[in-house]
Amino acid sequence: CMLARIGGDEFALVIDHSVSHSEIKELGKKITQALQVPFTMRTGLVQISASCGFAIYPGAGNTVDELMDRADFALYQAKSEARGSSVIFTNKHRRLIKQKSKIELALNQSVKNSELCVYYQPIVNGKTGKTKGLEALARWYSPELGDVSPTDFIAVAEKTGTISDITLHLFEKAVCDLKHWPPSLYLSFNLSAHDVMNKTTLQELKRIIDIHGVPSRRIQFEITETTMMNDLDHSSKVTKTLQEQGFMIALDDFGSGYSSLSYIHKLAFDNLKIDRSFIDHLLQDQRSQGVLKTILVLCSNFEVSCTVEGVETVEQKNLLLALGCTQMQGYYFSRPAPIDQLDLTDSNEDVVLTNSTP
Ligand code: C2E
Ligand code: MG
Ligand code: MG
Repeated sequence: CMLARIGGDEFALVIDHSVSHSEIKELGKKITQALQVPFTMRTGLVQISASCGFAIYPGAGNTVDELMDRADFALYQAKSEARGSSVIFTNKHRRLIKQKSKIELALNQSVKNSELCVYYQPIVNGKTGKTKGLEALARWYSPELGDVSPTDFIAVAEKTGTISDITLHLFEKAVCDLKHWPPSLYLSFNLSAHDVMNKTTLQELKRIIDIHGVPSRRIQFEITETTMMNDLDHSSKVTKTLQEQGFMIALDDFGSGYSSLSYIHKLAFDNLKIDRSFIDHLLQDQRSQGVLKTILVLCSNFEVSCTVEGVETVEQKNLLLALGCTQMQGYYFSRPAPIDQLDLTDSNEDVVLTNSTP
């Protein structure tokens, strides 16, 4: 093999004799396992991990550029599926690339053709069943592709730069809806990594609420843990500024990424949203319950509220209440729906969602 360093922490390996998929897999395993062995530095014990992406000639491509591109794609898949693993580029990935480029093309027209809309999911006090706020969730029906999940199209929009237009378009829609809601309800709106980095987008968000005369305290921005981790210093500056402007900040999908206690105290946020993957094992797993209790103590020490996402059953709801968690969200209470399908009735300080029939 020929080994080369091609970037900061990226290395390339050229294997110039014919090898089978199983041999490549074995090699990938050896490399990733070897790099997982902890080593000692002056500052202490360090453990790193590496992921591998392989592209095999001629199946994956005919030119050097093609092969490098596809190896990169496989690497990206390895990183997003399971860090520290290795992935070989196959036809499945070729189909994925095609699908992504179709999404890319159709997405360019989506804002102009008004194909995007907003659904809302209630954020509920699990004890009383009352709705405290509504999370806006983007929905896209493309005449060409049908329904496309936000997980798929937001990632593409981030890559192509259309995300700013989409964010501002959806935010304005949501703010217009909010004007008709009972005043005790807040809007929770997801921001992407790109939005957090983009000064103009942030200024425009503020401009939109000013134009519509909506106070910033009725808006919560959700920023994922992974986004925050991308650039901790910048993100914490942004969240601080947004808080100074009166917005609330939620740390979204907590527990799905790095979840490190070493950064959490550096961040300015008002609400911690625990990822739904956490809830999956809660009923059977005492340790998950212990971790959840610890997170609740952490939130109370930091004086931030805590919301658990993905509550689907009455058993999960009851257990969460017993563990001391009251703010919840999930199919048990209501699936995301168009605003006119959510029957919101005002009741002084809280709002009851009358059509939520669990
Ligand atoms: P998220 O912000 O964590 O939103 C929660 C996701 O979990 C939503 O998926 C929601 O439909 C789903 N969900 C809620 N309750 C349950 C439950 O009880 N069980 C299960 N299995 N799922 C539940 P959705 O709408 O597909 O959105 C996926 C992700 O896409 C969101 O995760 C958010 O990160 C992103 N997203 C959605 N809309 C926007 C947007 O307007 N802008 C940005 N930047 N991202 C968005
Ligand atoms: Mg969210
Ligand atoms: Mg979430």
